[in-house]
Formats: sequence, structure tokens, C-alpha cells
Amino acid sequence: MATHILMFPIPLQGPVKSMLKLAELLRPHFQITFLVTEHIHRRLLRHSNISDDDDSDGAGFRIRAIPDGLPEEHPRGGDDFLEILESLKKTSRPLLREMLICSSSRKKISCVVADGILGLSCHVAEEVGNGVGVFHVRTISAACLWVFFCLPRLIRSRDLPFHVIFNFFLLGDDLDTPIKSIPGMESYLRRRDLPEFCRSGDINHPMIELYKKEGSENPRAHGLILNTFEELEGPILSELRKVCPNIYTLGPLHAHLKVKQMSPDTFSNSLWQEDQTCVTWLDAQPPKSVIYVSFGSLALITHQQLMEFWYGLVNSEQRFLWVIRPDSVIGKDWEDRLPIELSKGTKERGYIVDWAPQEEVLAHSAIGGFLTHSGWNSTLESIYEGVPMICWPYFLDQQVNSRLVEAEWKLGLDMKDTCDRSTIENMVRDLMDVRKEEFALRAKHMENSAKASLSDGGTSHANLERLINDIKFKAR
Ligand code: UDP
Repeated sequence: MATHILMFPIPLQGPVKSMLKLAELLRPHFQITFLVTEHIHRRLLRHSNISDDDDSDGAGFRIRAIPDGLPEEHPRGGDDFLEILESLKKTSRPLLREMLICSSSRKKISCVVADGILGLSCHVAEEVGNGVGVFHVRTISAACLWVFFCLPRLIRSRDLPFHVIFNFFLLGDDLDTPIKSIPGMESYLRRRDLPEFCRSGDINHPMIELYKKEGSENPRAHGLILNTFEELEGPILSELRKVCPNIYTLGPLHAHLKVKQMSPDTFSNSLWQEDQTCVTWLDAQPPKSVIYVSFGSLALITHQQLMEFWYGLVNSEQRFLWVIRPDSVIGKDWEDRLPIELSKGTKERGYIVDWAPQEEVLAHSAIGGFLTHSGWNSTLESIYEGVPMICWPYFLDQQVNSRLVEAEWKLGLDMKDTCDRSTIENMVRDLMDVRKEEFALRAKHMENSAKASLSDGGTSHANLERLINDIKFKAR
């Protein structure tokens, strides 16, 4: 009887995707129950190839849906993150307990692999007390996780709080002030690169409370699984290991099977319908001539920002493929109010879709750059395909990631806190034309490192083997 593990992601596109990729890698070795909210379950059934089978074919994977405790009509957007999380913690706790207690030998769960931000798995496993092993997964960068772990240190050293006051004569209120109290990041981190909630001026902000708690929860698990690789975040990982000694870096998670060139009997894991027509459009474009623009599954933009991006892209005279999620623009009717010069410029050089097959797009030979919100999945997908980036971070880990892209890895440009058409135009020209050789060289180097880490003998490859062995050992 295969060891049975329970996998439990938080209900957002990025984390669900990373966890499904991990499930795919563990599936040949274990029986997996994948726990998602009913909301996510419905979307996966509608837009992915995941079926509702109860493992009747013995495939070793089954999905189970639980309520998240929110009303049906709740928007469940990115800005509702805290509310979703708190509600899910309440509803899932008794269910998790019940599942761990269940003693029928076929269903007995030996291990929980859960998102560390949920925090409750260790508590429930301890309460149940039947030796269930707990491994935490975090689907953000190691750098941002380290910033979260350092929140108490930031407060002690008085790097926090600070107030964003738009008066540059006031001492100490400048967002470019260096942050010196986070070991390993002293040379490049500034106030503006901290997660956006650090700008609130309130050290009791609910997000700060949440992540401070996480800092004490994560080290309690048997191990911490991260979607990153040693060559990318080595110095930060050394710091993190002082707090969580048993870290498995497995990233880029989405690409293990690509490197092995295994037949894709894989899960598609999109929560939106992918528009494949953009690939046909890309097929007709010259190599490395198109900048791909996407702000992920959660970011919202105002009508004004939409216009600045649009003018910036059209004025740059570069080709562009742009994902505009229908629910991402605040305010309606923007399509009816499009200035004529933008329609014309888009017809000549642009293509717009609601949702793209992003991995396929980034791997396409026509793509030369990525204007991204610096979500961690998008960042890794771009790195893996050797595509340089312009970063326009929205929230959470994205402010940290975009700083690393520019200042530490030199893989692109960080546009955070600005959104005007001339900056966008100039940055797009820089990335796609003026400085393209320089960025291409760096991007190729990092792409090679990513691929090496996944190959036989590479760190992520070896860590996956170690994780599989450790879960088996824990189950015994
Ligand atoms: N994505 C996609 N099609 C799109 C836009 C995004 O498939 O048109 C995928 C993308 O490949 C990535 C995920 O959605 O894996 C977004 O995750 P990320 O961590 O980058 O950002 P989030 O959506 O969590 O802010």
C-alpha cells in the first residue's frame, strides 16, 4: 500500500499551480489526496484537465473539495487575501483533524504537505498525535520569506514603522532609505522593496501579525519545501537555514518534467480559459521581437494605469502580447473609450487576450521580454526560459522579487512605484533594443543554472529525491 499524503495549498492561482506541480512529481511514489476549496475545485474542473475521479483507476491522485466558509457571491480577489485565509483556517481545521484521525488502512494519512501560511497543520497533527509528519511548502521567493521572518528584527532595529509622506524634506520618510537589518540583503534592499503593507506605518498591521506568526510556525514542521534553486537564492537560503535547517529547494517546480522531457501526462492547472490564438499570432512574429505583458491572476489596475501602459507600449514601437484579465481593470467600459491611436497601434503591432498559456508563450521564440507584476511563478517561468523582465510589482512578495531581478540578478529593470507612459516606453525600448544584449547574456546564464539544478546531479533534482525518501521514512 503506497504511503498516503495530504496536500493542501492556499486557494489562489499561483500556490495551487505550484502545489499541483509538486503533486505531479510525488504522484509516482505516493497516494495523494489534494485538498482544495470548492471555489477552486469548480474552476479546475471547468478550465483544467483535472477530473473528479475518486482514484478508481488507482492513479494515486484524488482531489477533495472543502468549503472556504465565504458566501458564494464573495469575489475572492487578491485584496481579500486575509479574509479568505482566516475563513479557510476556521473551516478546514476540524476537517483536517477528522482526516488525520481516520484510521482505515487505505485512507490513513501518513504525511501532510501544506502551505506554511495556513500554519494549522502542525497544531492539528500534534493534537491528533498519531505520528503524522508535516512538511510546509511556501510558494513565494526565499528572499521574501526571509523578509517575513525578519519582521520582528525590522521592528527592533526601528526600520519599521515608517510613514510614506510625500514631502522629501522630511528626514526618514524617503522610500529610498536603505534597509540594513536583514542579513544577506543589506547591499540592495530599500524601504520601497519591502512588501507593500510595510508602508502602512502600523507595526500591528494584520499582515505583519500574520507573517510574524508564520515565522514561528514554519520552523516547527519536519521540513520546508521552497520553489527556488540554490544558484538563484543561495545567500538568502543560508540565512533561512539558520531558522529552518531542513529546507528542500525544488525549483523551478514547473520545469522538472520539461527537463526530463517526459511526456506531458501532466495536470493543466489554469483557473481561467487559455486563449491559444495568441500562440498562432506569435508564430507569425520575428524571433525575440515581442514583449509579453501580464500582471498575473490577482493584480488590479486603474483605468488611468491601463492607459499609461497602453500608450507606453504603443509609443515604444515594439510588438506586444498583452493579457488583460476581464476582471483586472477597475471601472467598466474602457474598451469603448479607447483612443484611436491606441487601436491603430495595437492592430499594427499588438495582440490582446483575456488569459494566455503563459509557459508556452514564454517558451516561444518570438518572445524577447516580459513586462510582469513579479509574481513568483511568473518570475521563475521567465528565468527558466531566459526571458529578461520589466517589473511592475503589485503586492506581497512582488516588491522584493522585482528588486532582486534588477539589483541582484541583473535580469531586467524594476519599474516599481512609477506608471507613466514615457517611463514605460523607455524601459520597453531599453529591454527590447538598447540593452538587449546585456540582458540576454545574464538571462541565458540564469536559464542555464535553472536547467542545471533540475538535471541529474543538480541541487533541485537531488532535493526532490531527498524529499521523497524523507516522506517515506517519516511514514514508516
Ligand atoms: N498565468 C497564465 N496565463 C496568464 C497569466 C498568468 O497561465 O495569462 C499563470 C502563470 O503562468 C503563473 C500564474 O498564472 O504560473 C501566476 O502566478 P504568479 O505567482 O506569477 O502570480 P499571481 O497570479 O499569484 O499574482
